Amino acid sequence: MVSAEAGIERVLWTEAEVAARVGEVAAELAADLRALLEPAVVVGVATGAFLFLADLVRRVDAPLAVDFVRVESYGGGTESSGKPRITADLKVDVAGKHVVVVEDIVDTGNTLSCLIAHLEKKGASSISVCTFLDKPARRKVNIQLVGDGKFYSGFECPDYFVVGYGLDYAELYRNLPYVGVLKPEKYKNDSSN
Ligand code: 5GP
Repeated sequence: MVSAEAGIERVLWTEAEVAARVGEVAAELAADLRALLEPAVVVGVATGAFLFLADLVRRVDAPLAVDFVRVESYGGGTESSGKPRITADLKVDVAGKHVVVVEDIVDTGNTLSCLIAHLEKKGASSISVCTFLDKPARRKVNIQLVGDGKFYSGFECPDYFVVGYGLDYAELYRNLPYVGVLKPEKYKNDSSN
């Protein structure tokens, strides 16, 4: 078998850099969640946010609930279809709750704005966003937070298709402990791009 690393052209953030930055974001988030009168609901966007969420909440010393949603807009390629839909919904009731959406990456903003609208409809009293990566250069939709919601971000990501630390290409590479740029030959023959 070939190692997952074989598909990586270069590393953007090493495992140690990721851990250090996640610790900083967690400290910022923890301070805000401890100031709330009741536990927040941390909503992870599956599958990409699974590692970030796991590392983040272990470093947040505040009462909180965790749940997941699935929002899909990608086929198998590197470009979003732009029409996200919720394909697996929450179990936890977020009505009247402070919600923190945990994302792997915000790119065009389509996925996040669809999810924020969905959570707002369910009656969340505030909606914050905590994204591991942010690609502001590619934003097409402004992210409207709800109530006293805040925007937390790990790293600003250059305009490359990146994988690792939860982020996939065709469901692979999520298990890499660092973030890297995928070798173009790994997807250039893919007709779904
Ligand atoms: P948006 O709706 O903001 O355009 O896209 C958000 C979703 O697209 C993310 O949750 C992620 O699944 C996917 N995505 C956007 N950019 C990248 C990227 O560089 N690498 C990977 N692996 N996924 C990406």
